[in-house]
Amino acid sequence: MALKKCKECGKEISSKAKKCPNCGAPIKKQISTGSGCLIIILFVLFIGWIFSSFDTPSSTSSNSTVSTSSKKWFQGGNLHKATLAQWKSATYQNKLATASDWLSATKWKGHLNSPSDFDKIKVKAQMLVRAVDKVVAGKEMEQLDFMKANEIAAALVTMSDDLGP
Ligand SMILES: [Zn+2]
Repeated sequence: MALKKCKECGKEISSKAKKCPNCGAPIKKQISTGSGCLIIILFVLFIGWIFSSFDTPSSTSSNSTVSTSSKKWFQGGNLHKATLAQWKSATYQNKLATASDWLSATKWKGHLNSPSDFDKIKVKAQMLVRAVDKVVAGKEMEQLDFMKANEIAAALVTMSDDLGP
């Protein structure tokens, strides 16, 4: 049986003990986390964060102080959970508004403080729509029908620095 020293009282105790028999201090299990393992965990968390932020449209566009009755180009997108088949039959306006939500929820988070700031991402949103359209138009479309547009978009945004601020 391996022995180790209690951090509290210094007495040698079994490494399997949950508590020090001498002073009662809880013994922490030593978890070996290699840095490579940590990077993978961080990466998985990062991807998870992107997907989760893509599920809900950003509130940035709705909490603006300016209330307008006419819809702006970045408002009203509802393709956040669409499949590629649904994306394919959607209007360009809808795609563009959805793409702006994806961008504002990820790389542009914190960069959009007023409605006019959205003009900055219009070109990027157009790029993103084109990129998703390109995937949708690919030869493998039938196999991709079940895929979510937001998964494609998340991958595209992650890979392309051009879509950032
Ligand atoms: Zn102890």
